[in-house]
Amino acid sequence: MLIAIEEQAVLDRIQTWLKTTIVPQANSLDADPYALATAMAGLAQLGVFGLRVPAQWDGLAVSNTAFSLVQEQITRHSGALAFLQVQAQSAIAMLLKSKNAALQKTYLPRLSQGEVFWGVGFSHLRRPGSPLLQALPVKDGYELTGQIPWLTGAGCFEAAIAAAVLPEGQAVFGRIPLANAQQAAGGTIRISPPFRLATMTSTQTVRAQLEGWLVADPDLVDLQPAGWIDHNDRQNVLKSTWLTLGCAGASLDAIAHYLQQKPLDFIAEALSKLSQEVEDCRQQIWRSQQQTVSDPDLFKQQLQLRAWSIDLAVRSAHAAVTIVGGAANDLNHPAQRIYREALMFTVSGETPKIMSAILKRLTSRILI
Ligand SMILES: Cc1cc2nc3c(=O)[nH]c(=O)nc-3n(C[C@H](O)[C@H](O)[C@H](O)COP(=O)(O)OP(=O)(O)OC[C@H]3O[C@@H](n4cnc5c(N)ncnc54)[C@H](O)[C@@H]3O)c2cc1C
Repeated sequence: MLIAIEEQAVLDRIQTWLKTTIVPQANSLDADPYALATAMAGLAQLGVFGLRVPAQWDGLAVSNTAFSLVQEQITRHSGALAFLQVQAQSAIAMLLKSKNAALQKTYLPRLSQGEVFWGVGFSHLRRPGSPLLQALPVKDGYELTGQIPWLTGAGCFEAAIAAAVLPEGQAVFGRIPLANAQQAAGGTIRISPPFRLATMTSTQTVRAQLEGWLVADPDLVDLQPAGWIDHNDRQNVLKSTWLTLGCAGASLDAIAHYLQQKPLDFIAEALSKLSQEVEDCRQQIWRSQQQTVSDPDLFKQQLQLRAWSIDLAVRSAHAAVTIVGGAANDLNHPAQRIYREALMFTVSGETPKIMSAILKRLTSRILI
């Protein structure tokens, strides 16, 4: 996986910071929102939020490969930090594609420097049936009413890009505050208390209820045709595999550490086999990502690669737990945390096609 010398220097700097600053506190970052916010500020100082942003908006504009390797490395050291920053990266990517030049001019330099963070709330577009969040065109913009079931980053993110569905099926994307709020004209946003999750509680995921919330034209980020989410999911099947590979890598690091305490041949053998499989998987993902022609066979192959990376992350985490033994049941044990992170990365961004690919892989093993 080739990256430019300057990109390698950025990656090295980030890796050094992850090893020295993040590794010692990885478990508390999973639970403590304040520690996680401080870590986000650390990533901002390293330029991580400007990685994909062009220089005109104060970004570094690194290649897709370099960006993927950074995502992998962050996840390898803290799943919670990786998950929270990836929401902020999604918001930046959406604003970069926006036609709202004024909003870009005001916010892209600030977002790219990590002065402020935005999250995203669009996964509900995947739910079948009546839209959970509806948009009504009004004189000055769109009025949003309904629910955003998943919104990560409360307390850390100032705003979020919310997606709502118009009566004709198009999706409207607008900036909303990620907090309780009331507009003079009566629009309201009410957010739930942070969910009590099995992992990454520090990322403060909430549910938001909107009633007639006006997204005025200056806050409009995008407008997409009906079916946008399916197209977007199809284009991005492999995007999150770098986080899943990072999660598998976290288990490999843990196993290597426990091997020093328990120098047993079969642990060394398991580490060697899993390391080889992770490397094979990432090489295949990288090669597949380089393909430019989009055809049904490529999509099928990418679904299988996504399922493989998830299976690998869960198996590697299971192997780490197996090696640690009873102590891995302690909620604060690193192997326990990584195991829970692997479950989180299993469902993140899940679609019926991804679900099907994972289940096929899980049920195709020969059971004796
Ligand atoms: C901790 C956490 C934080 C998250 N934070 C965010 C966030 O900040 N922003 C964000 O946008 N998303 C967020 N998500 C959402 C995440 O990406 C979703 O988990 C993922 O999209 C799967 O959707 P779901 O959990 O809503 O599950 P489901 O509703 O079960 O959907 C899973 C898939 O099954 C399909 N499906 C559901 N019901 C049916 C049915 N009856 N018939 C056929 N198909 C069906 C859906 O179309 C969907 O593709 C978060 C999730 C978690 C767990």
